[in-house]
Amino acid sequence: MQPFWMKFKAGVARFMQGRYGPDQLGLATIWASIIFNLIGGLSGNAAVSAAMNLLSSAGWVWAIWRLLSRNRQKRLAENQWFLTRWAKIKTPVMQAVARFKNRKKYVYFTCPECRMKLRLPRGVGNVTVKCSKCGHSFEKKA
Ligand SMILES: [Zn+2]
Repeated sequence: MQPFWMKFKAGVARFMQGRYGPDQLGLATIWASIIFNLIGGLSGNAAVSAAMNLLSSAGWVWAIWRLLSRNRQKRLAENQWFLTRWAKIKTPVMQAVARFKNRKKYVYFTCPECRMKLRLPRGVGNVTVKCSKCGHSFEKKA
Protein backbone atom coordinates (compact mmCIF):
# COMPACT_ATOMS: atom_id res chain seq x y z
CA MET A 1 0.00 0.00 0.00
CA GLN A 2 1.07 3.55 -0.72
CA PRO A 3 2.41 5.43 2.31
CA PHE A 4 -0.16 8.15 1.68
CA TRP A 5 -3.10 5.74 1.97
CA MET A 6 -1.61 4.12 5.06
CA LYS A 7 -1.33 7.53 6.68
CA PHE A 8 -4.81 8.45 5.47
CA LYS A 9 -6.35 5.26 6.87
CA ALA A 10 -4.51 5.67 10.17
CA GLY A 11 -5.69 9.28 10.30
CA VAL A 12 -9.30 8.29 9.72
CA ALA A 13 -9.03 5.53 12.33
CA ARG A 14 -7.60 8.02 14.84
CA PHE A 15 -10.33 10.53 13.99
CA MET A 16 -13.07 7.92 14.44
CA GLN A 17 -11.59 6.67 17.72
CA GLY A 18 -14.31 6.75 20.38
CA ARG A 19 -16.88 8.03 17.93
CA TYR A 20 -20.19 6.34 17.37
CA GLY A 21 -20.11 5.47 13.64
CA PRO A 22 -22.92 4.33 11.35
CA ASP A 23 -26.09 2.49 12.42
CA GLN A 24 -29.53 1.67 10.96
CA LEU A 25 -30.98 5.04 11.97
CA GLY A 26 -28.04 6.77 10.29
CA LEU A 27 -28.55 4.81 7.08
CA ALA A 28 -32.30 5.49 7.13
CA THR A 29 -31.60 9.21 7.64
CA ILE A 30 -29.26 9.24 4.64
CA TRP A 31 -31.83 7.39 2.51
CA ALA A 32 -34.53 9.84 3.57
CA SER A 33 -32.20 12.74 2.69
CA ILE A 34 -31.56 11.29 -0.78
CA ILE A 35 -35.32 10.83 -1.31
CA PHE A 36 -36.06 14.40 -0.12
CA ASN A 37 -33.40 15.64 -2.52
CA LEU A 38 -34.96 13.69 -5.41
CA ILE A 39 -38.47 14.97 -4.60
CA GLY A 40 -37.04 18.50 -4.44
CA GLY A 41 -35.38 18.05 -7.81
CA LEU A 42 -38.48 16.56 -9.45
CA SER A 43 -41.07 18.99 -8.11
CA GLY A 44 -41.62 22.02 -10.29
CA ASN A 45 -42.66 24.06 -7.27
CA ALA A 46 -39.93 26.39 -5.90
CA ALA A 47 -41.30 26.35 -2.33
CA VAL A 48 -41.58 22.54 -2.26
CA SER A 49 -38.13 22.24 -3.77
CA ALA A 50 -36.62 24.62 -1.16
CA ALA A 51 -38.35 22.78 1.70
CA MET A 52 -37.16 19.39 0.42
CA ASN A 53 -33.59 20.61 0.00
CA LEU A 54 -33.66 22.01 3.52
CA LEU A 55 -34.93 18.67 4.90
CA SER A 56 -32.31 16.84 2.88
CA SER A 57 -29.48 19.05 4.19
CA ALA A 58 -30.76 18.76 7.76
CA GLY A 59 -30.83 14.96 7.33
CA TRP A 60 -27.23 14.86 6.14
CA VAL A 61 -26.04 17.14 8.94
CA TRP A 62 -27.85 15.04 11.56
CA ALA A 63 -26.58 11.74 10.09
CA ILE A 64 -22.98 12.97 10.03
CA TRP A 65 -23.27 14.54 13.48
CA ARG A 66 -24.52 11.18 14.88
CA LEU A 67 -21.74 9.34 13.02
CA LEU A 68 -19.11 11.51 14.71
CA SER A 69 -20.83 11.67 18.09
CA ARG A 70 -18.92 10.56 21.18
CA ASN A 71 -22.10 9.95 23.19
CA ARG A 72 -22.45 6.27 22.38
CA GLN A 73 -25.17 5.49 24.96
CA LYS A 74 -27.47 8.21 23.65
CA ARG A 75 -26.95 7.23 19.99
CA LEU A 76 -27.59 3.54 20.79
CA ALA A 77 -30.83 4.51 22.54
CA GLU A 78 -31.90 6.58 19.50
CA ASN A 79 -31.19 3.66 17.19
CA GLN A 80 -33.15 1.30 19.44
CA TRP A 81 -36.09 3.73 19.42
CA PHE A 82 -35.93 3.86 15.63
CA LEU A 83 -35.74 0.05 15.25
CA THR A 84 -38.82 -0.41 17.46
CA ARG A 85 -40.79 2.17 15.45
CA TRP A 86 -39.54 0.77 12.16
CA ALA A 87 -40.65 -2.78 13.05
CA LYS A 88 -44.16 -1.39 13.65
CA ILE A 89 -44.23 0.57 10.39
CA LYS A 90 -42.57 -2.06 8.22
CA THR A 91 -45.29 -4.76 8.40
CA PRO A 92 -48.25 -2.59 7.26
CA VAL A 93 -46.07 -0.99 4.58
CA MET A 94 -44.98 -4.39 3.26
CA GLN A 95 -48.60 -5.59 3.34
CA ALA A 96 -49.76 -2.53 1.42
CA VAL A 97 -47.03 -3.15 -1.19
CA ALA A 98 -48.12 -6.81 -1.50
CA ARG A 99 -51.78 -5.78 -1.86
CA PHE A 100 -50.89 -3.32 -4.59
CA LYS A 101 -48.79 -5.91 -6.45
CA ASN A 102 -51.56 -8.53 -6.27
CA ARG A 103 -54.49 -6.17 -6.84
CA LYS A 104 -55.42 -7.93 -10.10
CA LYS A 105 -55.23 -11.40 -8.57
CA TYR A 106 -57.04 -10.84 -5.27
CA VAL A 107 -59.89 -8.87 -3.78
CA TYR A 108 -58.87 -7.46 -0.40
CA PHE A 109 -61.33 -6.70 2.37
CA THR A 110 -61.55 -6.65 6.15
CA CYS A 111 -63.53 -8.90 8.46
CA PRO A 112 -66.64 -6.99 9.64
CA GLU A 113 -66.19 -8.41 13.16
CA CYS A 114 -62.50 -8.00 13.96
CA ARG A 115 -61.11 -5.86 11.07
CA MET A 116 -58.67 -8.64 10.15
CA LYS A 117 -57.39 -8.14 6.59
CA LEU A 118 -58.57 -10.94 4.29
CA ARG A 119 -58.38 -11.68 0.58
CA LEU A 120 -60.12 -13.79 -2.06
CA PRO A 121 -58.94 -14.73 -5.55
CA ARG A 122 -60.74 -12.55 -8.07
CA GLY A 123 -63.53 -14.27 -9.99
CA VAL A 124 -64.49 -16.91 -7.40
CA GLY A 125 -68.05 -15.51 -7.31
CA ASN A 126 -70.26 -15.57 -4.21
CA VAL A 127 -68.60 -17.47 -1.41
CA THR A 128 -68.91 -17.84 2.34
CA VAL A 129 -65.80 -16.50 3.97
CA LYS A 130 -64.67 -17.71 7.37
CA CYS A 131 -62.37 -15.25 9.10
CA SER A 132 -59.05 -16.89 9.99
CA LYS A 133 -58.73 -14.81 13.16
CA CYS A 134 -62.16 -14.72 14.84
CA GLY A 135 -64.02 -17.44 12.91
CA HIS A 136 -66.84 -15.11 11.82
CA SER A 137 -68.57 -16.35 8.61
CA PHE A 138 -70.04 -13.98 6.04
CA GLU A 139 -71.01 -13.84 2.35
CA LYS A 140 -68.59 -12.18 0.00
CA LYS A 141 -68.54 -11.72 -3.76
CA ALA A 142 -65.17 -11.63 -5.50
ZN1 LIG B 1 -62.68 -11.71 12.02
